[in-house]
Amino acid sequence: MTTLPTEAIGSIPRKEKLMDAQRRFDAGEINAAAMEIYYDEAVRETVAELEATGSLIVSDGEQRKAHSFVSYSVERGMNFASDGVVIPFQDGHVRQLPRLVTGPFRFARYAYESLALSKPHAHVPMKQAIISASALSLFYPHQDIPDYPRNMFIEELLNEQEKEIRGCFAAGAEKVQIDFTEGRLSIKLDPTGGILNSFIELNNMVLARFSVEERRRIGVHTCPGADHDSTHSADVDYAELLPSLFELKAGNFYIAMAGEKDRERSLKIVARYLKQKQRAFIGVIDVINPRIETPEEVCARVLEAARYIPVEQLGTTDDCGFSPFCDDVSTQRETAFAKIRARVQGTAMAAHQLGLS
Ligand SMILES: [Zn+2]
Repeated sequence: MTTLPTEAIGSIPRKEKLMDAQRRFDAGEINAAAMEIYYDEAVRETVAELEATGSLIVSDGEQRKAHSFVSYSVERGMNFASDGVVIPFQDGHVRQLPRLVTGPFRFARYAYESLALSKPHAHVPMKQAIISASALSLFYPHQDIPDYPRNMFIEELLNEQEKEIRGCFAAGAEKVQIDFTEGRLSIKLDPTGGILNSFIELNNMVLARFSVEERRRIGVHTCPGADHDSTHSADVDYAELLPSLFELKAGNFYIAMAGEKDRERSLKIVARYLKQKQRAFIGVIDVINPRIETPEEVCARVLEAARYIPVEQLGTTDDCGFSPFCDDVSTQRETAFAKIRARVQGTAMAAHQLGLS
């Protein structure tokens, strides 16, 4: 039976209690065992609230991604400095990536370890978001590291990424989502698309290590960034990104759309380049706008998408996570859950009107 699947991207704003514990942990005031108690409580509460929205697949709200969706795997790694690549946002604030100082490149923490700890709290299937190999590749500095050439780094990066994805499936992930926010940003940095193509190539080197069946459960998320209610690449035309994006050997694409200026045009581009056996989860919730969408509005957005994309290849999502960086509290938790509830209800309304479910 054809249904309209709906999935969140992943992150939910942390409670002050968790953020305060994280600050104390970072300052060395509490130990890892004490911190774990805070994480566990945060995940338990978040999963329960996500299930209460009616979601049939949930994440752990990324409560254990200590500081951000980009750097969680290398945080507390000893061979990193904090002065890496800078990502400027529209409102003038910046985020800075870690910089690898010496080899080898290893994750200090795997998302599958978090998933294994979160899974017992869930009563429905779970998805796990991870950062892309292409974003991780930006940790390697512009100048080669002595005795650790870039090609050696890339080989180790690919191995770590494969281990991460296999680990997520082994820990029970129904879906694995690769966050690829730098895809759209790359066109801003290099309008020729050269950087984008190198990112696609690198991510495909990881994806090629998986079977067709496994790739059906792997997805890629694209967005213009969402941090402190600001974006980094919303001005980049989807026409520059989407044709290359669908070259990724993944089965699912989670595409920011609600906040797009010209949705109709963007949906047409998705429809034109989406390949058979790929599913487009269209963003129907604008995570930047604090106003909570009604289920009717969501329903209308789904029906709009269904005019262009075959329903067998359609799903819905939020435009981005609600708090990709741990200290971003620009969205209230209650607002995030209310928006997710509207997505779930509005998608079900649309499915009914389309004669599905
Ligand atoms: Zn995003």
